[in-house]
Amino acid sequence: MSIFAQMETLGHEQVVLCSDPSIGYRGIIAVHSTALGTAVGGTRWWTYSNEAEAITDALRLSRGMSFKNALARLPLGGGKSVILGRPGAVDRPAWLRAHGRFIERLGGIYITAEDVGTSLADMEFIAETTRFVAGRSSTSGDPSPHTARGVYRAMQAGARVKWGSDDLKGKTVAVQGCGNDGFHLAVELARAGARIIAADIDPARVARAARECGAVEASIHSIHSVEADIFAPCALGAILHDQSIPELKVGVVCGGANNQLLEPRHGQALADRGILYVPDYVANAGGVTFGGSIEVLKLTRDATLKRVDEIYDTALMVLTRAAADGIPPSEAADRLAEERIRSGRPG
Ligand code: NAD
Repeated sequence: MSIFAQMETLGHEQVVLCSDPSIGYRGIIAVHSTALGTAVGGTRWWTYSNEAEAITDALRLSRGMSFKNALARLPLGGGKSVILGRPGAVDRPAWLRAHGRFIERLGGIYITAEDVGTSLADMEFIAETTRFVAGRSSTSGDPSPHTARGVYRAMQAGARVKWGSDDLKGKTVAVQGCGNDGFHLAVELARAGARIIAADIDPARVARAARECGAVEASIHSIHSVEADIFAPCALGAILHDQSIPELKVGVVCGGANNQLLEPRHGQALADRGILYVPDYVANAGGVTFGGSIEVLKLTRDATLKRVDEIYDTALMVLTRAAADGIPPSEAADRLAEERIRSGRPG
């Protein structure tokens, strides 16, 4: 599909292709919607197999940010940018400064932050060339503990709908990916008395979850199919598909990864198996809710943390609407987000 056709299908306002051949940098900035406010979404640094894959990723992720911000009741639109990594050494600070220069040129319709492959330290290089960076250590900081807190609260809402109680004590949760988000989620779960099974391609990361949270290690090939109550995808997206869904042995899927469903129809496939899916962008809105509430809404820290915890209420609302309308939760979330974006009011 052409770039314009993809933009029209997904409803994008603007997509910018950025290049600085003198240092080998290539980036894409996708602004999905500014209907509710400035488009906010992180910068992903990833080595894609080809340009088309990078564009599709930027388009899907930025649309996801519009929906996430709308359901989180933030006066923000959705955007995302990607830096096209390549094998071998690159001048990372120079690439990040180049990326910042392109963000600056957009004049503030897009604000970036961390995402997969970029760190808090990287934001400082981007901030050398643009004012439009959130989540710096001097402002709202690392979003991942707040993302994990939101996932935990969404999981509680899922447990309440599925089993009638939001107490996760004694529940077994299979965590796929023990990075920033997955590790902090494991900390929350251990505190709540849940049993944790964890997997990561990086042995050091899963070892830390075992040491600090009592997680039992599983293979990365079978983590989605272990016997558990809840499956928490916290690595990369597109992991719920025709092959993996029949292998799930859980009652609830709720995790921090973006774009967990390979295709929208997989929301129905989960429902057909009686598995309750808490939509990814409802569950993982804690980081942007924290950053947006501190940096844009200028709320106090206490009021901000309360908003993160209210992800429980949002998840419950989505799951209730899905049941009432007889549609999968993923579709209920999309409908609610689209209604808010169309109305021009964040709720
Ligand atoms: P991260 O890079 O810190 O962690 C991802 C982890 O997954 C890494 O430890 C990696 O080794 C592991 N991994 C990769 N492939 C795997 C596989 N096949 N099986 C098991 N483990 C695998 O990234 P993160 O910040 O924790 O983000 C994780 C996901 O959550 C991403 O999809 C991201 O977009 C999403 N997310 C994160 C945040 C946040 O604040 N960190 C916010 C919203 C959404």
